[in-house]
Amino acid sequence: MNKQEIKERMDSLVEVLNQYGYSYYVLDNPTVPDSEYDQKLRELEDLEKAYPDLAREDSPTQRIGGEPLDAFRKVTHETPMMSLGNAFNEQDLRDFARRAQEGVSGEVTFVCELKIDGLAISLKYQEGKFVLGSTRGDGRIGEDITSNLRTIRSIPLSIKEAGTLEVRGEAFMPHKSFLEMNKEREEKGEEPFANPRNAAAGSLRQLNPKIAAKRNLDIFLYGVGEWENSNITSHSESLEALHRLGFKTNKEWKRCKSIEEVLEFVTYWTEHRKDLNYEIDGIVVKVDSLDHQDELGFTAKSPRWAIAYKFPAEEVVTTLKDIVLSIGRTGVVTPTAILEPVRIAGSTVQRASLHNEDLIREQDIRIGDQVVIKKAGDIIPKVVRSIIEQRTGEEKEFHMPEECPDCGNELVRLEGEVALRCINPNCPAQLMEGLIHFVSRNAMNIDGLGEKVIIQLFREDLVHTIADLYRLEKEDLLNLERMGEKSVTNLLNAIEASKANSLERLLFGLGIRFIGSKAAQTLAMEFETMERLQHANLEEIVAIEEIGEKMADSIVRYFEEEKVTQLLKELKELGVNMTYTGQKKSEIKTDSLFSGKTVVLTGKMEQYTRKEAKELIESLGGAVTGSVSKKTDVLIAGADAGSKLEKAEKMGIEVWSETELKEATEGEE
Ligand code: NAD
Repeated sequence: MNKQEIKERMDSLVEVLNQYGYSYYVLDNPTVPDSEYDQKLRELEDLEKAYPDLAREDSPTQRIGGEPLDAFRKVTHETPMMSLGNAFNEQDLRDFARRAQEGVSGEVTFVCELKIDGLAISLKYQEGKFVLGSTRGDGRIGEDITSNLRTIRSIPLSIKEAGTLEVRGEAFMPHKSFLEMNKEREEKGEEPFANPRNAAAGSLRQLNPKIAAKRNLDIFLYGVGEWENSNITSHSESLEALHRLGFKTNKEWKRCKSIEEVLEFVTYWTEHRKDLNYEIDGIVVKVDSLDHQDELGFTAKSPRWAIAYKFPAEEVVTTLKDIVLSIGRTGVVTPTAILEPVRIAGSTVQRASLHNEDLIREQDIRIGDQVVIKKAGDIIPKVVRSIIEQRTGEEKEFHMPEECPDCGNELVRLEGEVALRCINPNCPAQLMEGLIHFVSRNAMNIDGLGEKVIIQLFREDLVHTIADLYRLEKEDLLNLERMGEKSVTNLLNAIEASKANSLERLLFGLGIRFIGSKAAQTLAMEFETMERLQHANLEEIVAIEEIGEKMADSIVRYFEEEKVTQLLKELKELGVNMTYTGQKKSEIKTDSLFSGKTVVLTGKMEQYTRKEAKELIESLGGAVTGSVSKKTDVLIAGADAGSKLEKAEKMGIEVWSETELKEATEGEE
């Protein structure tokens, strides 16, 4: 890679990591597994080390956590709440120990603690009373969640210590509550939390403390932020003092005189973490003596005297009870392993995709085998291998059938593909999957029409095609399980409302092969009506930027189908909109006020909400980002703007007031 390419790679890593971080820290809803985040972060760290001149100020390596939500009062942490550096293997731990020893005078001693998978919390006591509880936020500014924290029974509301004391710890959700809550959420059709950390964070950032109270959260305290009357000289003393003051501390900690002892602790808990009734995701190793901690100091993000060792993705063994087939929207038949339910990385797993027959053959996986299961990136369960030594001889080899298990049509293997497909366009299993896709969020977005309802509609013979959805009557729906008068009315309204959707949603919803939501958007904007797209030829479609030959070919073939012409005719008669109602291509200004500019908003706005200001800037070609960096062109500062304004001024970035924004944009829209 030349320097330009390296810079581009670093920029793109910063962008995606910041996006992942936002979903994880601010929305409590991660979009990728932690291992993927960690791997990218490591790559970025290595590049920044090799090319410090290319490092960006808004790099996630320089930041702790996420920004506080506006919904809560902000709290400034007088002593910053830091993150921790990570270790992923023995060598990383040995390096940490060596650096620590080299950085201090005298023998270094460590304290090992369990790394609880929860949310870092600060609790402040004055004159013996609990007065303020907050989240870590970005390390400097967190959110005031005192009322929610007061619902955690193990937090003492008063203590026998008159001076100001600020303690820190991890709020978490025990396994049992986590599993129960996710089960409840799934039953209600809500998305389950990805892990106990996000569940705890989501619960504590509820505006209504009654909700937090129901979530059975708990807390372990592991550190002191500020202690007026302290005379402690080491971390282990502070753990003991916290315990004496009545705080709940975790008893599984150990003072270790050497790295060998640290490694023993790590090995022990890697094996025994499953026996705990809460999730831990690693071991935290801290230098014990406070003098030594002072000598070692901090980096921008974390103390040099502590490190978090993260467990590798967990593997467990279970029985593969059966292999069943599932049929996707495009007719691909996928073998799925049915497993003896087993707990792994925070949830119970009962199914895992086996992808295709070749893979099963290659790995020699048989029904009845003992298999090793791993969660790829702690989220998606995967069968890693069979334990051949444990075979009894009763295990059965699996063979793909020749016919579709749903409609009986012959299965075929298309050229160049490993997967087997059912190519019967009327195969009920495929139609059902197609409908589930049609109503999904990025397609027609019909609320209240989840997978369970669609399965019932099929079972009751009420729908066979997409058009049938628009023919549903109140009486049909009232007969379905768990459908009351109110939900039926809501559902019918949602179906009716979807008729007005702009063309791109319909195009995506139809499930044309290779056409994702972005391509659907491009096509809709370009052709504006379904009719024009239907009659376009291959050349016209390929001519569009972003639409490749494979996509164009798939579109032309799709519209050639008799069945498709009929379906579109019916949809039109039923009142489904077939035109593009989004922003016209000709209306997109190529040279708007903010074209190519990066804008940051800060402070309180009076004339716009944050969202309105953001949309306004974006409609004028600008990109709105969260933090001030070298890339920022303009900072728009509302009332009481704080650190971002200071930073922008220091960096010589253009600063506008809200009124200036208003004046500049009037007449531009
Ligand atoms: P961290 O989780 O690696 O370590 C710091 C935190 O550990 C502390 O703030 C504290 O909350 C916690 N902790 C638990 N037990 C502790 C103990 N005994 N002593 C001290 N601290 C203890 O750092 P982080 O900055 O909170 O988060 C980084 C993690 O978040 C990584 O694991 C990363 O994978 C994950 N992440 C994932 C995504 C994603 O998209 N999946 C995005 C961002 C971050």
